[in-house]
Amino acid sequence: MNEFKLIAKHIKKTKFSDLAFGIGDDCSVLKFNKNTLQIESTDSLVEDVHFRRQDLSFFELGYKSLAVNLSDIAAMGGIPKTAHLSLAIDKKTTELNIKDFLKGFYHLAEQENIHLIGGDMSSSPHGIFINVHISGRVSSTQIQYRHNFKKADFLCVSGFLGDSAAGLDALLKNRKKDKISRPLILSHIKPPIELEKAQWLARQKGVSGMMDLSDGLISDLKRIPMASFNIETTHLPIGRALKKYCETYSLDPLAFALAGGEDYRILFGCKKERLKQIQKDFENKFKTPFFVIGSIKKQKTQKIQYFKNKKPLKINFKGFDHFS
Ligand code: ADP
Ligand code: MG
Repeated sequence: MNEFKLIAKHIKKTKFSDLAFGIGDDCSVLKFNKNTLQIESTDSLVEDVHFRRQDLSFFELGYKSLAVNLSDIAAMGGIPKTAHLSLAIDKKTTELNIKDFLKGFYHLAEQENIHLIGGDMSSSPHGIFINVHISGRVSSTQIQYRHNFKKADFLCVSGFLGDSAAGLDALLKNRKKDKISRPLILSHIKPPIELEKAQWLARQKGVSGMMDLSDGLISDLKRIPMASFNIETTHLPIGRALKKYCETYSLDPLAFALAGGEDYRILFGCKKERLKQIQKDFENKFKTPFFVIGSIKKQKTQKIQYFKNKKPLKINFKGFDHFS
């Protein structure tokens, strides 16, 4: 059983006249008015699957619950507007915990001008279960779909890869107090908010295809239809903190960058003739670069190849899948 096959086998395609795009992208897309689309997505956080209670505060958990949902809105180039929040709470959880959770949630909601307009509260026999549903808007000329990667030449990513997975590794190995682990743990607990970069990128002529990285590059690339990828592993953006952590504990940074989940960076396609200008404008605006990690070819059956200094590289890591 894997996530992908389960969805393909049991979730039916639907015909609804207001629907511009259904299952198969980071958000579903509905017609809002002549020039605007409504985009919607949902994500859950389950205790002991997505987080352990001892690893983060309730404030941080509230922040993260919204942040991971914002990432799917960013992936379409959209602006988030409203959220619904459902909580199932066990007996261990106090009212003060819920208050702190909501403080964290509202902290990010207010920063991004998002309105919490509904939800649900339930008891849970074991552990906490959190679900957020998010909606946003995007102009119909700026929306970015996964099926448009095929029109691009280069594959790019908005920031460092692998930090969050290394942060999780550090938490699982009780390295919370160790100085080298700290920035990585922070990336895991407090994902980057890439909304502004994604909205800017979506507006650029030459950017074609976008998605967010939630399950690791290896897994997420497989979700892009009608395109083949050649990934140059020496171009993967690996930050200093991850390099240092891997040197210290004799680990392979590539494993984190390729197979590690929860980066919440934006993966996007860019046309050859526009790449240089977009790179320059991006750096001027955000004071940080984006990274070209490979090339794209339109293809009916997908093929993903990895290279090291242009020589084929066999990859033995697997990305994240809830059911395998
Ligand atoms: P993401 O990683 O951005 O959540 P995925 O690639 O995992 O997206 O999901 C693929 C598509 O399947 C998405 O469009 C998502 O909305 C849809 N999907 C996943 N689970 C379900 C479900 N239980 N019912 C209906 N659609 C689902
Ligand atoms: Mg996504």
